[in-house]
Amino acid sequence: MFDFQPTSGLLAAKTILVTGAGDGIGKEAALQFAKYGATVILLGKTVSKLEAVYDMILAQGGKEPAIVPLDLMGATPQHYRDMASTIEDQFPSLDGVLHNASVLGHLEPFEQISEDDWNKVMQVNVNSQFFMTQALIPVLKKSLSASIIFTTSSVGLKGRAYWGSYAISKFATQGMMEVIADENANTSIRANCINPGGTRTNMRAQAFPAEDPNKLKTPADIMPLYIYLMSDHSKHETAKTFHAQPK
Ligand code: NAP
Repeated sequence: MFDFQPTSGLLAAKTILVTGAGDGIGKEAALQFAKYGATVILLGKTVSKLEAVYDMILAQGGKEPAIVPLDLMGATPQHYRDMASTIEDQFPSLDGVLHNASVLGHLEPFEQISEDDWNKVMQVNVNSQFFMTQALIPVLKKSLSASIIFTTSSVGLKGRAYWGSYAISKFATQGMMEVIADENANTSIRANCINPGGTRTNMRAQAFPAEDPNKLKTPADIMPLYIYLMSDHSKHETAKTFHAQPK
């Protein structure tokens, strides 16, 4: 497990946007960023899940979060531009983005991937992060130290049979991170990828239905890396891929 011991108030001055904040790893990241003092912007598709996370953050004594209900499947570049200007108006700065929301699509042979499945996976996993990051970079540039975290997967680092659209979308994510990191090498923005490794969530259960979930790490177990990369301790880290569960 990636080893980092955060101190209380570590993220106190930060505003952090988390996509897919209603469930799984994104939910836990939002709760943990708030626990260490951040103001969290919760973006996701299912409003009731975001509201539950909002309530949990307040119940644990965190700063009042914001909710952005947005289905990445239908969102357009204009949605992201509007979101960026709202964030700029309502918060002193934007210091972090965790691109976490993703869909798995169907696991099937390459020749059988349908146009519909391909387009849906690319829309949620690639296009949304592309247009969202384009819109947010001008806001992030105003932060003294801004961290963009993308979420990759083992199948986005080495292609694997039957993981088609999902695996290819994670290779694109990796490339996006590297381009952004290189272009911003001399700015206050850094960009990195996290590979969470097998983690007990709905997506993992969908991919491996026969697996015993109790043998997997929980989202809470893998959080030290997420907190590290959002904190100023990682100011010098960019263009890298970190493994939350190194072998
Ligand atoms: P998860 O439990 O399925 O959660 C995915 C999140 O993304 C949910 O909050 C979901 O919202 C949101 N989302 C999905 N489609 C969306 C859309 N169209 N618009 C807005 N939000 C949407 O998955 P997870 O396991 O936590 O995965 C988090 C990230 O880690 C993903 O990028 C995944 O590829 C990566 N990852 C996970 C594992 C693992 O073992 N779990 C391993 C490697 C990589 P709703 O709940 O409202 O649908």
